Amino acid sequence: MSFEYAPAPESRSVVTIESSYGLFIDGDFVDPASGAYFKTINPATEEVLAEISEANDVDVDRAVTAARRAYERTWSKLSGRERAKYLFRIARLIQERSRELAVLETLDNGKPIREARDVDLPLVAAHFFYYAGWADKLDHAGLGPNPRALGVAAQVIPWNFPLLMLSWKIAPALAAGNTVVLKPAETTSLTALWFADICRQADLPAGVVNIVTGGGETGRALVEHGDVNKIAFTGSTQVGRAIAAAAAGTSKKLTLELGGKAANIIFDDAPIDQAIEGIVSGIFFNQGHVCCAGSRLLVQENVHDEVLAALKQRLTTLRLGDPMDKNTDIGAINSSEQLGRITELANAGDSEGAIRWSPACDLPDRGFWYPPTVFTGVTQAHRIAREEIFGPVLSVLTFRTPAEAVEKANNTPYGLSAGIWTEKGSRILQMAQQLRAGVVWANTFNRFDPTSPFGGYKESGYGREGGRPGLLAYLTTGAER
Ligand code: NAP
Ligand code: MG
Repeated sequence: MSFEYAPAPESRSVVTIESSYGLFIDGDFVDPASGAYFKTINPATEEVLAEISEANDVDVDRAVTAARRAYERTWSKLSGRERAKYLFRIARLIQERSRELAVLETLDNGKPIREARDVDLPLVAAHFFYYAGWADKLDHAGLGPNPRALGVAAQVIPWNFPLLMLSWKIAPALAAGNTVVLKPAETTSLTALWFADICRQADLPAGVVNIVTGGGETGRALVEHGDVNKIAFTGSTQVGRAIAAAAAGTSKKLTLELGGKAANIIFDDAPIDQAIEGIVSGIFFNQGHVCCAGSRLLVQENVHDEVLAALKQRLTTLRLGDPMDKNTDIGAINSSEQLGRITELANAGDSEGAIRWSPACDLPDRGFWYPPTVFTGVTQAHRIAREEIFGPVLSVLTFRTPAEAVEKANNTPYGLSAGIWTEKGSRILQMAQQLRAGVVWANTFNRFDPTSPFGGYKESGYGREGGRPGLLAYLTTGAER
């Protein structure tokens, strides 16, 4: 017998959303010179939440000019100790306003409130606290005494973890002494605008943080601006390639965090019940909109049937629906475009001969939804084994020996993350040495910590975010300049 859950909706009234928002430039919200606006919606209901400014070249130039001025007149003149005070203040304000920010993130993005509240927001605050601690210790970052900031950083982020990606970008940049212009993704600008308000509340000097909203063209204008010293981009490999090409031959420093197609490897001696939880969080956390998602399950052949039976049983207990309900496990797909991409790739799984399974679940009438989906009988040639789906779709393959697991895991143009489930510590170390992935989790998955560097090999990009390496991406010895 199973118990039904009563509805447990989080209150929407903790946030007041205005009908329209300007750009955050030089410490103020200003109307866009472009005069253009676009709408942001709640993907769970398709309700319009607000109108957002679409910055053009003139707006981007104003923001970069403000960031340059702030860098030269104020931010680069402050000691690390003084910069740290602002970052600690921002971190504390994020904690104080975390309920409001979590609600806003869920409304604008479609992710379950449980995840926004318990994963995204604590990590966002932790990032600011962590890099606040570094601001007065840059001499110990590994570049020798007196490393210098780069100047103005242009930062472009995706929609899957809007505020968390903002924190990964802004916290190390400011700690190192840079000023920033950040462009959030078109479908998820609201929490970045709230963050702008937090900067004002923290009395951060004007122009140190600027937020320009808009689509791909706004992002292009920002990264191609001539007075930018550093580009930090997180998003698709396709756009990352275009940015790398545009930055080639300039003195701009570049870090790219791109896509992934991680293998989650289950050996026959793994604790199966724990592994099932790891498989579920690996691919169904955040609707699978996770660059390091464990989207390829590699199961040792002799436990395949046992693992699949237990996994299917577990998936029947997941609740899909209203992201604002505190009991919801799987929320909405972020946009109709993304739903289209997931649908197209999953349909290719059917037509190429893989076997599809989903638990019985009712999809809401409005909004964008995709049921948790598992494909078995997948081969390495199938598109669903090669291409990033970025949705709640798991492709299951098998292997017999550790060597075969390594070969299959590494058979991808990406190299962002991997998971290993086994009882043997020696096997964990041996596998981790051979997997070409920036992050390897052992007997867990999708764990993040600000002290731990994150980034990829091959087409997953270059550079690291988090930890000490994350700081180095925003510093120079001075000799390089
Ligand atoms: P995307 O299309 O590359 O967009 C990422 C950001 O770049 C958005 O803000 C986007 O604006 C902007 N943009 C688009 N075209 C641009 C251009 N020509 N120049 C500069 N900026 C441009 O990626 P997405 O589909 O939103 O995000 C999903 C991808 O991000 C996945 O492939 C995922 O693996 C990757 N990702 C990687 C990481 C990581 O840390 N490695 C983390 C999260 C996501 P719009 O919003 O207007 O399109
Ligand atoms: Mg939205």
